[in-house]
Amino acid sequence: MRILVADDDPLTLHMVVYRLRQWGHDVMSCTDGDSAWKILEGGLVPNVAILDWMMPGLNGPELCQKIRSKKDCPYVYIVLLTGKNNPEDLIVGLDAGADDYLTKPFHLGELEARLRAGKRIVDLQNELISARETLRIQAMQDPLTQILNHGAILDALLTEINRAQRERQPLSLILADLDGFKSVNDTYGHVAGDQVLIEVARRMRNCLRSYDAIGRYGGEEFLVVLPNSDDSQALRLAERIREAICSEPFRFYHVDLTVTISQGVTTWMNPDSIPIERLIQAADRALYGVKNSGRNAVQHIQFDVHAEEPFSPMYVSPISSEA
Ligand SMILES: [Mg+2]
Repeated sequence: MRILVADDDPLTLHMVVYRLRQWGHDVMSCTDGDSAWKILEGGLVPNVAILDWMMPGLNGPELCQKIRSKKDCPYVYIVLLTGKNNPEDLIVGLDAGADDYLTKPFHLGELEARLRAGKRIVDLQNELISARETLRIQAMQDPLTQILNHGAILDALLTEINRAQRERQPLSLILADLDGFKSVNDTYGHVAGDQVLIEVARRMRNCLRSYDAIGRYGGEEFLVVLPNSDDSQALRLAERIREAICSEPFRFYHVDLTVTISQGVTTWMNPDSIPIERLIQAADRALYGVKNSGRNAVQHIQFDVHAEEPFSPMYVSPISSEA
């Protein structure tokens, strides 16, 4: 474990640090409360803090309080070292947030036993954190395709709009819709339909850069957020996606299905803020254009927040589309 020891008594400090290192711990040490707080605020948060009650600067209980009031910090198991034997003082220490205490002079075996208890708590805490992280990911994920779900991709879009504004970078959006997906379900059943969706999500994801975001917007609709991409970059990417989907058939049992995808693309180059719905609306309108002109293609609408009609005329990427 990573352990911080703070004690102004050099003898105690030396003995404890020496033993802890012998027991294989990674030890940081200091001789006053303010230095201890600096270490705790730094990047390497210890799993356990062994804090002297009385020392210059912040004392043990004050440090406990500060540690416990820190938000978003991994749990630090705190053992107070005290010369005090008065139960009321111990109550003060425990109320301040200490997990345990040792009364000086203490036996090293006792310290070792307290650390074992601390390790159990630290391990439990880490398990909780990873369980919570798993839940968080599950809450954001579309269970079928493993990409972001509707709410999470909209969150990602909002985040990227804010970033684009801050950094004055363009932002592009692709709204993609599988062509004739209903007939896949009707002809081959929903299990086949699900397999198609999974494979489409996989192929699309493979076309993206690590900082692009993709989510399942609706049944067979996908929303792709492309930070830092202008119209030509976004169109190139959409075209790559189109080819990745239609160029190789989807194998399902002994059937080869050819699947195609229509994509509406929009780009926002303007530093003004815009409602998220209007950006999606622009992509949707471009998508509608593709659907009405043969499908399996990409169309782009430049988004212009100042125009009366916020969409400048649409142009189609140079693609020979097949119906
Ligand atoms: Mg002291």
